[in-house]
Amino acid sequence: MRALRRFTVRAQLPEPLAPLQELAANLRWSWHPPTQDLFASLDPQAWEQVKGDPVKLLGAVSSQRLLELAEDAELVARVRAEADNLRDYLSKPRWYQRQREADPGLPAAIGYFSMEFGISEVLPNYSGGLGVLAGDHLKAASDLGVPLIGVGLLYRSGYFRQSLSLDGWQLEHYPALDPQGLPLRLLAQPDGTPVLVTVGMPAGRTLYARVWQAVVGRVTLLLLDSDIEQNEPDLRGITDRLYGGDQDHRIRQEILVGVGGVRAVRAYCAAIGHPEPAVFHTNEGHAGFLGLERIRELIAGRGLNFDEAVATVRAGTVFTTHTPVPAGIDRFPLDLVRYYFGEDLLPGVPLDRVLALGAEENPGMFNMAHMGLRLAQRANGVSKLHGEVSREMFGTLWGGFDTDEVPIGSVTNGVHGRTWAAREVTELLGEPEPGDGDGRLDGLTDGELWALRGRLRGQLVAEVRRRVRAAWLERGASAPELGWTDSVFDPEVLTIGFARRVPTYKRLTLMLRDPARLRALLLDPERPVQLVVAGKSHPADDGGKALIQQIVRFADDPEVRHRIAFLPDYDMSMARYLYWGCDVWLNNPLRPLEACGTSGMKSALNGGLNLSVRDGWWDELYDGRNGWAIPTADGVADPARRDDLEANALYELLATQVTPAFYTRDGAGVPSEWVELVRHTLDTLRPRVQATRMVTEYVRDWYLPAARAAAEVELADYAGSRRLAEYRQRLNASWPRVRIGGVDASGVPDSPVVGAPMTVRASVELAGLKPDDVTVQAVVGRVDGTTDELDAPVTAPMAHVGGVDHDGDRFEAVVPLPHAGLIGYTVRVLPRHELLSSSAELAKIVVAG
Ligand SMILES: *Cc1c(COP(=O)(O)O)cnc(C)c1O
Repeated sequence: MRALRRFTVRAQLPEPLAPLQELAANLRWSWHPPTQDLFASLDPQAWEQVKGDPVKLLGAVSSQRLLELAEDAELVARVRAEADNLRDYLSKPRWYQRQREADPGLPAAIGYFSMEFGISEVLPNYSGGLGVLAGDHLKAASDLGVPLIGVGLLYRSGYFRQSLSLDGWQLEHYPALDPQGLPLRLLAQPDGTPVLVTVGMPAGRTLYARVWQAVVGRVTLLLLDSDIEQNEPDLRGITDRLYGGDQDHRIRQEILVGVGGVRAVRAYCAAIGHPEPAVFHTNEGHAGFLGLERIRELIAGRGLNFDEAVATVRAGTVFTTHTPVPAGIDRFPLDLVRYYFGEDLLPGVPLDRVLALGAEENPGMFNMAHMGLRLAQRANGVSKLHGEVSREMFGTLWGGFDTDEVPIGSVTNGVHGRTWAAREVTELLGEPEPGDGDGRLDGLTDGELWALRGRLRGQLVAEVRRRVRAAWLERGASAPELGWTDSVFDPEVLTIGFARRVPTYKRLTLMLRDPARLRALLLDPERPVQLVVAGKSHPADDGGKALIQQIVRFADDPEVRHRIAFLPDYDMSMARYLYWGCDVWLNNPLRPLEACGTSGMKSALNGGLNLSVRDGWWDELYDGRNGWAIPTADGVADPARRDDLEANALYELLATQVTPAFYTRDGAGVPSEWVELVRHTLDTLRPRVQATRMVTEYVRDWYLPAARAAAEVELADYAGSRRLAEYRQRLNASWPRVRIGGVDASGVPDSPVVGAPMTVRASVELAGLKPDDVTVQAVVGRVDGTTDELDAPVTAPMAHVGGVDHDGDRFEAVVPLPHAGLIGYTVRVLPRHELLSSSAELAKIVVAG
C-alpha cells in the first residue's frame, strides 16, 4: 500500500544530546567539518544513508542507539563543545560589529531578496549559479557578522532532479520536499501562532503564505510557502517548483517573493524585535516588486505621495543584475502586470505609475530589470567585464550619456571558501586572509602540494565510479553488466571538469567540435586526459537536452568511456567533488555572455587551474601564471566559424601546454611546472575569489552609501524625500526647454600647448530652473577628425557668472588643455542635487548643439 502523504517526525533526544538539535537546526554545520564529523560519528552508516543530512540523521538513529550514546561521556563532551563553539560563533562580535563601532552609519539590518538560495544540498531550493551565489552571500555575511535577512520562496519540489534515459535524453523528476524534514522552523508570533502573510489577488481573492525560517549561521533566511489549506488550489501551487511554469505562474511567484517578502520581513522583525532593514538588496530583477510594496507602505503609513515614496525607496535600494543578454531578462506582458496590480494588490499605488517603472522599448512589455534600475539608486553587475556589458546593454535608459558614464558599477562575485574548499586544503593552508598571499604555502614543498592534489583527484575518481555505476543502473542496466564501471577513470590521469547549466551560450559541446581530436586527447598513450561533464538543461529547452545527449552518446562508447563521463543530476553534493578533484576547470562560454561564472573560482580554491575563455571573472583575474586563456574569436560573426576557431584553440592548448605541464615530471615524479601554477593559484586567487571579499565590498561601497542616503532622505519626517521629489518634478517640467545657447570659443589660446588654459563660456536657457539646480560642464577631449566623438574627455564644472543675456544665464570655466593633437570640446547641462548619487542618476542631459 502506498501512503497518501508523508511527513517527518523529529526524534526526542536524551537530555545530554539535546544540543544536537541546535547543531542540526543551524545550517552552519554545512561549512563546519567538526560538526559534520560529530554527526557522522553518531552512526556512520546512517550518516551515509541520509547523505550527510543532520536533520534526517537524528530521525534515522534508533532510540536505543541514542540512549547508548547519551552514556558516552566523551561523545557528550564533544556535543557540548561543538554547541559552545556554535554559540560563540553566533554571539561574539565579528568584522561588521567592529566596523560599526567606527561607523554607526552602517545599517542595522539589510534585506537580501532572491528567487533562489543554494545553501546546502539538504535544502535544494536553487537551480544553479544565481542561487548558489545567494547562498554564499548569506554564509559570508554570517562569517563577517553582517546583519542580513534573506528572503525567498520555499518550493515544494525545488528544481528538478535529472536522470537519463537509455538513449541519453534528460528526464526530469520533481520529488516533493517535506518542510518538516528540512532544517526549517515556522515563523510565529510571540504567542506561538504561525505568521500568515497575505497578498491581494485580483477579483477580491487573497493569497496566504506561511513563512519558514532557515538559520544560516548568524543570518536568518525567510522562505514563503503558499502550499497551505487557507489557499484556493491554484494559489497553493504558486510555490510548487522553481522556474517551472508559464508567465502567469512566474509573476505570481515574483509578487509573492517581492510584496509578500517585505511583509514577511516586517512580521519577522516585529516577532523577534529585530531592527528593520535600512537597505534592501534586490538580487536580480525577479525580486523587484519589493520596491512597490515599500512604496505602498510609505504612501499608506507615512503620508508620502508616490514620487516622495520613490525617492525614499531608491535611496535605500541596491540592485544587482546578473544577465548580460537582453533575451535573459525577465519581462511580462503589460496586460498581465495590469491585471495583478490593478486593484487589490497595492492599494493607493497608482497603476499607471507602476507600469511606467517597467517601461521598455516594446510598449507591450514590462521589464523587471528596468524597474530594478528605476527603483534603486545604486546598481551593479557581477564582474568588471559584466559591469561594462551592463552599461552598454542598459545604456538606452541613459540616452545622451557616454557608455562609461552609465551609473552601473560592478562587484565581482565570490565563493564561500569554507563551503567549497576541501577540508584537506584548509587543514594544510589555513584560512586565507583577504588581500594578501598565503604565508603557509611557502612552507610546503612541491611534493606535498602535489600529494594534496593527488588525494583530491583520488576522491573524485572514486566518486565518478560510484556515480557512473548508479547512473547506468538508473538507465536500466543490470549490475552484472557494470563491472567495467569499477575501473573508469584513473587517479593518475589529468582530470578536466566541465559542469554547468546548459544554456546555449555555455557551449557544452564545444569540446565535441572535432570528435576525433577529442578522442585522441582522451586516449593518448603517454599523456591522456579524462573528462568529467555534468549539467542540467532547463526542462523546456529541448535544444539543451540534445546537447546533453550528444555528450552522453559520445561518452557511452566503450572505447572512451573509461576517460569521459557525463554524470547526471549536477547539484551541490556532486559539484563539491568536482571542484576538489579536477586538475583543470574548463569553461568556454561565448564571450561576453558569462556574467561572472563562479565554478572556476571554486576549483581555484582547491588548486584547480582554469582553462577558460576570458569572460566574466577570468577576464579580470587571469594573469598568465594561474591557468590558461582560450583565445576568443568574438569578432567573428559566423557562429560556426567562431566555434571552429575556439575549439581549435582549446585542443591546441590542451595538447601543447596543459598536458605537457602535467606530465613532465622531475626525478621524484613531481611536475614542477604544474605545481608552480597550482601554488600561484592558491597564493593569489584563493584570497581574491572569496565571498567575504565580495560581501565586504558590498558593505563598504553599496550598503553603507545606501544606508546613508536612506537616512538622509528620511530625516525630519522624510524632508529629503519631499525635497528630492519636488526637485524631480521641477526638473521634469523644465528640462525639455533647457537649451545651451552660444558657446564661446574665444578663450582658445593663440598657439595652444598642453596644459595651457582655455576659457570656455556658454549661455544656458534654464527654463525656470535655478543656476544651483544644474551642473554646467565643459567637456574637452581628443577627436579623430572623422566622427567628432570625444575620446578620453575631461570635464570641468563651469561657474555661474551671473547675468541673464538673451540666450540665458552665463557660465564659464578655465580648462587646462588635456591632450596634444586634435582637440574638441562641448558644453553640457546635468541635474544637480545634494541627494543624488551622481549627476547621471536621473538620466537627464542636455548637450550643446
Ligand atoms: C557554483 C555552482 C554553479 C554555478 O557555476 P557557474 O560557473 O557560475 O556556471 C552551478 N551549480 C552548482 C551546483 C554550483 O555549485
